[in-house]
Amino acid sequence: MNEQNKKITIRQGLRYALREWKIFWHLSPRFFYATFVSAALTALSPYAAVWLSAQLVTELAGGRDIHRLMTLVLWILGTTAVLSFFRSVAYRWKEVETDDIWKRQHKTYMDKQMSLDYVDEDSQKVYDMYSQVMQNANLSGAGGTVCILQVEKIVTALFQILGGLVLSWGLFAAKVTDEKLAFLNHPAFVLVFLAVMVGVACMSPVLAGKAAKYMPLVQESGKFGNRMFNVQLSLPENPKNAPDLRIYNQYQNVVGRQMVNVYGRNSTFFKLRRGVMGLLMAASSSVSALLMGLVYLFVCLKACGGAFGVGAVAQYLGAATNLFQGVVTLVNMLADLEINGVYMKNIFDYLDLPNKMYQGSLTTEKRSDRQYQVEFRDVSFRYPGSEQYALRHLNMTFQVGQRLAVVGMNGSGKTTFIKLLCRLYDPTEGVILLNGIDIRKYRYNEYMDIFSVVFQDFQLFSLPLGQNVAASQQYDPARVTECLEKAGFGQRLEKMPKGLDTYLYKELDENGVEVSGGEAQKIALARALYKDAPFIVLDEPTAALDPVAEAEIYTKFNEIAGDKTAIYISHRLSSCKFCDIIAVFDHGGVIQRGTHEELLAQSGGKYCELWNAQAQYYTV
Ligand code: ADP
Repeated sequence: MNEQNKKITIRQGLRYALREWKIFWHLSPRFFYATFVSAALTALSPYAAVWLSAQLVTELAGGRDIHRLMTLVLWILGTTAVLSFFRSVAYRWKEVETDDIWKRQHKTYMDKQMSLDYVDEDSQKVYDMYSQVMQNANLSGAGGTVCILQVEKIVTALFQILGGLVLSWGLFAAKVTDEKLAFLNHPAFVLVFLAVMVGVACMSPVLAGKAAKYMPLVQESGKFGNRMFNVQLSLPENPKNAPDLRIYNQYQNVVGRQMVNVYGRNSTFFKLRRGVMGLLMAASSSVSALLMGLVYLFVCLKACGGAFGVGAVAQYLGAATNLFQGVVTLVNMLADLEINGVYMKNIFDYLDLPNKMYQGSLTTEKRSDRQYQVEFRDVSFRYPGSEQYALRHLNMTFQVGQRLAVVGMNGSGKTTFIKLLCRLYDPTEGVILLNGIDIRKYRYNEYMDIFSVVFQDFQLFSLPLGQNVAASQQYDPARVTECLEKAGFGQRLEKMPKGLDTYLYKELDENGVEVSGGEAQKIALARALYKDAPFIVLDEPTAALDPVAEAEIYTKFNEIAGDKTAIYISHRLSSCKFCDIIAVFDHGGVIQRGTHEELLAQSGGKYCELWNAQAQYYTV
């Protein structure tokens, strides 16, 4: 059994549940009000019918007064109709609030995800923790959803017990008159009977609990199975995958076969459900029936002994059945807390992940003169869990307003350099200084504010174009248009059916527009310009552009970058010529620095080698 499947005690389970309920309370007290009202009506309304029916039977067995019988029938019809109406209204209210709290609860996971240190968000271990939480929820609602349902179950059970005690009080209090059955009057007998009832009531949840304890055993295969569902099974849904699935005839390989393995009849999950788990569940149900049998026996014996009449029999049977149903639910809850505790632990392990990144308090001085200077001083960096250094003893200073180009082979550390500069990661060794101060000492969000970055794998979202550029719902349309024009998207903007209000992609709007890779890159560039940060960083900014668009960006780059400090990563050396300084990366370090002319003059250098390798494709 792995760490995640460790046994949880009832006490721990209760502690987790209380913590989760407290979170629910903060998210939405209305959920509790609605659940309380709905559960009270659900639990108590059957008692009205039980009591009135008992009166009816008593009348039928006794006076048979037609007027009273009619009145009772009308009362039964009226109360049943009114109570079902209110019960149904309360139920809908509770359903709406449950749906709402479910979404709010999901948002707490999203909030956590965004508040994590990037290094954690990007780590496989944290991804696994988060997906475990999601897989549990998808597999059986385990974790938060069960906790939501527990609130309703507990409130319902408490009202059932309360109503049951009131209506079945006479069952225990009434004395039998028949001497042969006089033992039924003895307090000791009543106590033994109640103890047996509670004992039997406990057996059912214990058996159900034993059955459910097998669930964590299938957590791992369930996790994998759900991943298959989420990732593999959704592949055919996305038309972008269709060409590769069809050309290589991969559909059966990526979808069909895997699904049979994970969810097939011979999977662990199904074997357990067919075997031991299924038997335990069946035994649990039959114990509940035994409980009902005992209630019937006790009520009938007392009636036979003359303790009460036939009308009371109907009342006590109904009341005692509901009462013990409530007891069973409450005892079941103990097993439930224990079992769900395993999943709640997963949730809180994830929610309690600490932010380890040092958060400074210095302000980045929003300088109007944009006088910023950045220095990498002997910086080395290894990605978490990696043995290899992605950057090694990197020393580099760049000045405000400079155009810095970073070139080098794939894997030489260019993107890592940018990620460290933007403080997505902190250096493993060495220090990065902004105006002579360690960047860790600045307020994190303020520090982020001084960078506009177009990452290689930037993302645009299914939102209107204007919101994508402004990264906000409120924006200045004139400035958004200006940025799009600067980024070379002007002509395309004119063709957008609803201008800046045109949705990108079709996920949220069927009239949304699919943009090409190059067009998307221009929008991402416009977004970086709109942010108007003192540093603009472009990681392979023209990789998806056609040669004409690429040339257009280069010629306008000085205008685009304005007075910003620009860092420009590119494979294409010809596109870096316009930069003031070019840094050549190799194996995680800077091996050459200088202008294009200076670097070309160093024959035998890496820059020369790369330049010549690319130049041969452009000369005949
Ligand atoms: P470049 O941008 O020059 O192509 P990168 O900075 O992306 O290079 O990568 C530098 C090195 O770090 C490569 O060896 C790459 O495999 C490794 N690397 C990049 N990202 C990660 C990551 N998230 N986890 C582990 N190693 C990584």
